[in-house]
Amino acid sequence: MTVEAILERETARGMERIALTDHCYSYEYSIRNASRTRINLRGLISKLRKEGKISKSMKIYFGVEAEILDYRHVSITPEIAGEFDFVLVAPNHYNILQPSIFSLRTPSTLAINELYNFQAAVKHPATDAIAHPFLLPPDLFGLSIDEMAEFSRKMMSKVDWKELAETLELAAQRGIGIELSPRFIKYKQTHLLDFYSLCVEKGVKFFIGSDAHSLDELDHLDMLEGVIGQLGITEEMLWHPQEWEW
Ligand SMILES: [Zn+2]
Repeated sequence: MTVEAILERETARGMERIALTDHCYSYEYSIRNASRTRINLRGLISKLRKEGKISKSMKIYFGVEAEILDYRHVSITPEIAGEFDFVLVAPNHYNILQPSIFSLRTPSTLAINELYNFQAAVKHPATDAIAHPFLLPPDLFGLSIDEMAEFSRKMMSKVDWKELAETLELAAQRGIGIELSPRFIKYKQTHLLDFYSLCVEKGVKFFIGSDAHSLDELDHLDMLEGVIGQLGITEEMLWHPQEWEW
């Protein structure tokens, strides 16, 4: 999956705005790497525009996905964050940073941890938007899709929803976006619609993320059409990164 292939494909689909995001460990936590990537990307985009391979009007943003390490700590420095148009913060990259999570194998204990990390992401000054909150990947937990969906449903029933609602009020005030990606449908965790409905009720904005790690997965965005209609998400309810002049 190259940047060039993504941009050409999305031009063909008539996409008007696109945000490219990679995990921050790809930049090896180095400001030189982040800065160099941004400069290279700008060069590539203007070349593709000149060659007529990508739309001239398509807005392109450049973001980074960091993760919560601990309550007040994210895996990115303010200097590196400054190299990007926006910072996504993942509350639940357990595979990378919190292997101990696997001992938290009851829905109630994981519910506490998920809410705690979500609150940490909402309150952290680096956060512009939050990647895949409360979404549990089956492969990570060594469960089948159905088993994970059942576990996740139980977990969400144990979440302190009053505290979650208050956290979402803060997210709305701070203008933080919440990711809505087709992955929750693929994982059959459709009970998360209750969470997304609460986001709507509290005026929290959404960003539509593919969470794609391959080109074909970009097409899965179409799966979201019904959900967007069901939740009544309109253009004004979408989160966008800060404007950036290329
Ligand atoms: Zn992630």
